[in-house]
Amino acid sequence: MKKIFAGNWKLFKSPAETRAFMSKFKEVMGSVTGEVVFFPSAISLEAACEAVKGSAIKIGVQNAYTQASGAFTGENSAQVVKELGGQYILIGHSERRSIFGETDALIADKVAYVQSLGLTPMLCIGETLQEREATHTFRVLETQLLLGLAKADKAKPIVVAYEPVWAIGTGKVATPEQVAETHTDVHSILTKMGFTAPILYGGSVKPDNAGQLIKQAHVSGFLVGGASLEVDSFQKIATV
Ligand code: PEP
Repeated sequence: MKKIFAGNWKLFKSPAETRAFMSKFKEVMGSVTGEVVFFPSAISLEAACEAVKGSAIKIGVQNAYTQASGAFTGENSAQVVKELGGQYILIGHSERRSIFGETDALIADKVAYVQSLGLTPMLCIGETLQEREATHTFRVLETQLLLGLAKADKAKPIVVAYEPVWAIGTGKVATPEQVAETHTDVHSILTKMGFTAPILYGGSVKPDNAGQLIKQAHVSGFLVGGASLEVDSFQKIATV
């Protein structure tokens, strides 16, 4: 299976900055053997989709609502993402859960809706430091998967990103042993549920730790925040 290297740009990069990044990244795409996906902010989505035309770079958004249109002020339409040529939707990122109060029930509806459009949901799961220290990691991840995938179609593509909350944007990366152990757990939960999905690791992935992490059991690629904002660092990660 091809590795997947995804960049979550959060609330960074204007349309002009997006175009400039993509034009440079297209030049180095030849060195990448895996699949590359960028999640720009919704306002830069059209610029990103236009800029990657003719290349293998894939695009998605960081959140989309459960309906195509309607009185949902401030939301994104996955239908429009599809029309613009986007292929992925990030769902349930820890910042969506903790800052915007997204529940597992809402996340389950989003996953199902995105799949119904023929787009690929990238479902983010992860435990807090408190939950890890209390040895609740397995239970937390199992619950997030059981609830988040409750309405998902097992026959349609889905990607899971394991992102320990304590490692996101903190510079504190999970150790290779923690990644191997947790990815093995996530893989076995998914298998028991009847799902086959690539499992990406996310949380302070950088060029100097990516090589070690990619070798761990059931690591099918990375979801990268900070280090995906620069062509050079993301290229290094995507060519490990
Ligand atoms: C993320 O935003 O999903 C993420 C993993 O961020 P960072 O790589 O900066 O920790």
